[in-house]
Amino acid sequence: MKKEFQIVATAAAGLEALVGRELRDMGIDCQVENGKVRFQGGQEVFMRANLWLRTADRIKLVLGQFPAKTFEDLYQGVFAIDWQDYLPLGVQFPVSKARCVRSKLHNEPSVQAITKKAIVRKMQKVYARPEGVPVPETGPVFSIEVAILKDQVTVLLDTSGDSLFKRGYRTEKGGAPLKENMAAALVNLSNWFPDKPLVDPTCGSGTIVIEAAMKALNQAPGLQRSFAFEAWPWVDQALWKMVKEEAKAAKKTNLDLRIMASDLDGKMVSLAQENAKRAGVASSISFKQMRLQDFRTDLINGVIIANPPYGERLMDDEGVTRLYQEMGETFAPLKTWSKFILTSDSQFEEKFGSVADKKRKLYNGTLRVDYYQYYGERVRRSESES
Ligand code: SAH
Repeated sequence: MKKEFQIVATAAAGLEALVGRELRDMGIDCQVENGKVRFQGGQEVFMRANLWLRTADRIKLVLGQFPAKTFEDLYQGVFAIDWQDYLPLGVQFPVSKARCVRSKLHNEPSVQAITKKAIVRKMQKVYARPEGVPVPETGPVFSIEVAILKDQVTVLLDTSGDSLFKRGYRTEKGGAPLKENMAAALVNLSNWFPDKPLVDPTCGSGTIVIEAAMKALNQAPGLQRSFAFEAWPWVDQALWKMVKEEAKAAKKTNLDLRIMASDLDGKMVSLAQENAKRAGVASSISFKQMRLQDFRTDLINGVIIANPPYGERLMDDEGVTRLYQEMGETFAPLKTWSKFILTSDSQFEEKFGSVADKKRKLYNGTLRVDYYQYYGERVRRSESES
C-alpha cells in the first residue's frame, strides 16, 4: 500500500483560500487552486484534514493524472494506475462521479463506464481472477471520481464519505440553514477573536455561533461523525485512534466566551439550543428569543455576524426592505462593533443605510450572495472606561 499521497481538499467557490489558510495553520504546506487546495502527505495528513478542516467540502486522493482525447486513452490511463495499492480484492469501487469540462470526451456516463471497465480489468489481472467474471464487490466502499478538464484526466478517490459540512450535530435545520462549512467561513472572514463579544441576531438553527464556539474551543469539527476511509482495510487504525484522541485532548475548557444568539422565532431558538447541546458547546452560548430590532448592548468591540432572510426564501420584498432598514437603525449606535451581513440582496447597503467597508462575493449553495463587512471604530479599553 502507498505511504505518500497526493491529496486535494475541495471547497466551494470563494472559500479555497480559507481552506489553504487552515491547512497552513496545521503546518501543512499547500497550493490553492480554483475549487480546491492541493497538498501531500501520508495517512495521518488526510486523517487530520478530514477531522479538522472547517471550511472544506471533501478530502480526496489523486490516484492518477494523464491526457486523454479518446476512450482508448482514458482506458489505458486508468488501467495504468496501481489500483492494487488502493483497492484490496473484494471492496466496492463505484465510479460515482464523472465531470467533463471543455474536453473531447464529454459524455459523462460513458466516461464512468469506461473507467469502471478499466479498473475491473486491472483488478482481474493483478488478483489473477478470470476475465469473464466480475470481481466480487461486497466490502467497504472506495468511491472513485473522474474529472476531465481540457483533455486532462484526474482520477480521484474520496476519503470523506459524507461531505465535511455534515458534522453530525445538526439534525434539525429550519427553513434556510447555512452549510456548516459556510458558517465557519463567515466566522473566519470576520475579525472576531474569542476575547470579543459575538452576536448572531438572526440565528436560525444556530450554525454560525456553534461553528464560532467550536473554533474558539479548538474543538475538531469532525469528532462526531465517521469518514469513508475508516472502513478501509489498509488504514492504520492505531494511528487514526491517536489522531482522534489528540483532537479530544485539544479541546479547551474554562474559556470564557461571550457568544449570543437570538431569533424572532422561539421554535428556532430551541432548535439552535438543541444543536449547540449536541455539538458540545451549549454552555458557551446564550440563546434568547428576540427580534433583532430589540438588540441593545453596553458591551464594546463586539462582532455581529448575521444571515438574515433574503427575500428569495423567507420573506417578501417589502418585509426584507423594512427589516434591513431597521437593522441599520438598530446597529448604528454600536459604533465600536463590527458588522458582517450575508445576503443576496444587491440593494442591501441602501436599505441598511451605509456603504460597506468591504464586500466579498460568495455562494450560499448555488445562490450568489455578498458578505457585507462594516468595521467598528477602534476603542482602547482605557479610553472607553475613562
Ligand atoms: N444562519 C441560520 C439561518 C438564518 S435564516 C442557520 O444556519 O440556520 C434567517 C432567520 O432570521 C430565520 O430563522 C428567521 O426566523 C429570522 N428572522 C427573521 N426576521 C427576524 C427579526 N426581525 N428578528 C430576528 N430574527 C428574525
